[in-house]
Amino acid sequence: MAPGSPRRYRCAACGNLTRFNVVVTRRTRAFYHYTVGGELSVEAEEVLSEVVEDVSCRWCDHGRAVEEVDANDLRDADRQAADDR
Ligand SMILES: [Zn+2]
Repeated sequence: MAPGSPRRYRCAACGNLTRFNVVVTRRTRAFYHYTVGGELSVEAEEVLSEVVEDVSCRWCDHGRAVEEVDANDLRDADRQAADDR
């Protein structure tokens, strides 16, 4: 996965492009910065690895119909949808 290009999804069952429940396992490294009083702020968090475990549609809950799509294809689809209006 190239940084700066988030995955996009589409539900083939209902056409949803915008709302998904996503379960992700992430390994990160971060700078834990405590105050003397023990209050924590997490800084400079870096994602070392990321695995998408499960994606399901928020609209129809149809997990198996969700497919990953190319963000560039999606921009074309968005443009067509705007033209249709
Ligand atoms: Zn759906």
